[in-house]
Amino acid sequence: MEQGIVFIVSAPSGTGKTTLCRMAVDFFPDLRHSISYTTRKPRPGERDGVDYRFVDEATFEGMVADGEFIEHAEVHGKKYGTSTKDLQGLLSSGLDVILDIDVQGAEKIRERLREGVFIFILPPSIEECEKRLRRRNKDSAEEIKKRLNKALEEIRRVENYDYIIINDDLDSAFERLKSIIIAERTKKQRMIGKVRARFNLT
Ligand code: ADP
Ligand code: 5GP
Repeated sequence: MEQGIVFIVSAPSGTGKTTLCRMAVDFFPDLRHSISYTTRKPRPGERDGVDYRFVDEATFEGMVADGEFIEHAEVHGKKYGTSTKDLQGLLSSGLDVILDIDVQGAEKIRERLREGVFIFILPPSIEECEKRLRRRNKDSAEEIKKRLNKALEEIRRVENYDYIIINDDLDSAFERLKSIIIAERTKKQRMIGKVRARFNLT
């Protein structure tokens, strides 16, 4: 069976990446979010196995030692990783996968997933990012400061991505994300196998 496409989405915290990825997964029935492992504590309303797989430090380090992650990174002092087995499972069942990972993770995965589609989401400004984090009301003031300090550093890595979306207006940003997904699915190299099978071409 053909392998699905991996969409790698990165953005500074507070940009709206989780919101946009969720909208994409709700919109496309054959697109799934790969659930990462993290040592971070759940925020109010977050559920284990839905938003993340929340694990303790020892479990996470055990998984690292056993080579279970395709990539893993420390972000804002907590560890995050993408399970190779979970990702492969989704891809081999023909589903496309959206990976919501930070810039370090995206760089690591680029070496291993040459066919991946790399999308960077930017806030209209750092000030707006701060407003969104405050309005989200799920991180402490200290945590917000840490995340904003890191934002500019992350934005400098934008050149490593294939597509850039500035999340000014949410609906318009989502239209752009949808267009990228549809265009990537329609590329010749991804369609040619299906066309050959459908028309019995040798
Ligand atoms: P991230 O995953 O990038 O940290 P979230 O998706 O949690 O960000 O979004 C941060 C906050 O900003 C949320 O409260 C979300 O509802 C809000 N938000 C997302 N996109 C926009 C937008 N275009 N305009 C205004 N608020 C937004
Ligand atoms: P948050 O704690 O706000 O949910 O996520 C913090 C950052 O960690 C975000 O940039 C998010 O994309 C990133 N992240 C989430 N899961 C993973 C993962 O599996 N690997 C990496 N490298 N980063 C991740």
